[in-house]
Amino acid sequence: MLNIVLFGPPGAGKGTQSQNLIEQYGLVHLSTGDILRGEIKEGTDLGMKAKKLMDLGELVPDEVVIGMISHKIELNKHGKGFVFDGFPRTQAQAKALDVLLELKGTEITCMLALEVPDEELKARLLERGKSSGRPDDQNEEVIANRVAVYQRDTAPVKEYYAGQSKYRAVNGLGDIGDITARLAEAIDAATEV
Ligand code: AMP
Repeated sequence: MLNIVLFGPPGAGKGTQSQNLIEQYGLVHLSTGDILRGEIKEGTDLGMKAKKLMDLGELVPDEVVIGMISHKIELNKHGKGFVFDGFPRTQAQAKALDVLLELKGTEITCMLALEVPDEELKARLLERGKSSGRPDDQNEEVIANRVAVYQRDTAPVKEYYAGQSKYRAVNGLGDIGDITARLAEAIDAATEV
């Protein structure tokens, strides 16, 4: 299997690039943010609890997202692999993901970290907020909190994958197609034997 963690701060372009990668490599896209927004839309109990945290730019508890991902991996275990988008967001989630994949006889191939400066992130999120309908993209304070939570809780996930020699930084600025080509190059380098 080809299992990619597409990593980066909010607004780095993970969603857009995930779409390109799943088409190019025939993978399943697993975005915990999308799954949570689906739960909100359906008005489930889980969705209602998650919404309160998401609207503030805080993380949803590890056990909630790990449970959701575990279910999705099970459903797609016979596929070519996954692009994990917005997950793992803590070191505890990264460890749990390793265990889940090991149970299926597979592992993370590489972690690709999109690098985009903070000022550009803020501008992109506010622009996206005009059309995405996402409350967490429309408020500057919430955006600032999401970036702060990323720096505090999520950025250390890079060290987790660096410790396994699976971390690769990718420039997230420029033309969308060029960024996809950079990601593909990093994937090809990681899968070369
Ligand atoms: P995203 O769509 O990835 O930007 O996620 C939107 C929001 O969903 C985040 O700000 C968190 O509140 C929540 N969320 C998404 N993925 C996770 C995760 N892996 N761990 C905790 N919270 C998450």
